[in-house]
Amino acid sequence: MTTGIVYHPIYLEHKIGTHVESHLRLVAIMDFLKENGIMDDPNFKLIEPRKATLNQIRYVHEDSLIKEVKEVSELSDATGNVQSLDMDTLVSGKTFEASLYSVGGNLQAIDEIMNGNIKNAFAAVRPPGHHSNRYKCSGFCIFNNIAVATEYLFREKGIKRVAIIDWDCHHGNGTSSIFYSNTETKDCDVIMFHSHQDGRTLYPGSGFIGEIGSGKGEGKIFNYPMPPRAAEDIIMKFFDEIISPVCHEFKPEFILISAGFDTHWTDQLTNMGWTYQGPANYLKLIKKIAKKYANNRILITLEGGYEVDKQAKAVYNCLKVLNNEDDNLIEEKPRSSQQELLDYIDNKLMPEIKDKLKDYWNCF
Ligand SMILES: [Zn+2]
Repeated sequence: MTTGIVYHPIYLEHKIGTHVESHLRLVAIMDFLKENGIMDDPNFKLIEPRKATLNQIRYVHEDSLIKEVKEVSELSDATGNVQSLDMDTLVSGKTFEASLYSVGGNLQAIDEIMNGNIKNAFAAVRPPGHHSNRYKCSGFCIFNNIAVATEYLFREKGIKRVAIIDWDCHHGNGTSSIFYSNTETKDCDVIMFHSHQDGRTLYPGSGFIGEIGSGKGEGKIFNYPMPPRAAEDIIMKFFDEIISPVCHEFKPEFILISAGFDTHWTDQLTNMGWTYQGPANYLKLIKKIAKKYANNRILITLEGGYEVDKQAKAVYNCLKVLNNEDDNLIEEKPRSSQQELLDYIDNKLMPEIKDKLKDYWNCF
């Protein structure tokens, strides 16, 4: 059994000038994986992506959004200039095609996990997706990769319960919006665990603990707004006190991870305090849930991360953990949160989260 890595040069063709969500992010990741032997290691398998169909994109997006991406992409192609969908979401002549492959790479990885060719996978794709909702692209994102993947599992793969874990430093507001009242697919259920820098201090300014979902989704969304400068010790508390007990009740059959690597303490867009081994150490815990309930099925999809050399090391570390080489990480000096932040989590944030969700889960 092996770990899949989804990658294709088409992902570099979403080329948007000097924008921080640059194709060079992916170049740095793939170069680092090659230099460090991952791509020659028989325990890892390169997964060739396919295009998602428009019908699959429609699982979570309005036709108007799809049409807009296509038309603006064609305009960029015709003029030779990068175009914009909103203030910070840019489009090249190849963005529409790259976006279909970005979603499709995730779907291909799911196929290979479900048919047993690989054990789990990391989708090194772009453009990213977690800020795009049903009708609008935003925050550097085009099609919501993880949301389409969720519906794909429900509608085409017979999976009934999915847990989405979004550890990007920015709140995954698009994914949250798409599944705010859960999925309409019959007999299926999704829960979401969103951790991010507190929305009072960072884009998109949402992801507060009162956003717990509505209707069929009420009580199925867990937001964990972390104070600026929080190190990864604070995310481990989220796992221990929220994710782990809830998943023991929910029993997810598949775990999808929106992985941003912009929680690193040097990231230029954010103010957090994680190391580049932090996400991998968090992933070690998540793997225990996948092992117990989901037949080890985990798909990680790339979202943000803007310190390209740190991100490459963080991705390498996650791949090692996916492949059960937990002790084989590239590590920097450990960091820990200031006591006042830990006290805030223990005495204020955590009790408040549990209080908001206690009517929906026995574990609180
Ligand atoms: Zn981000």
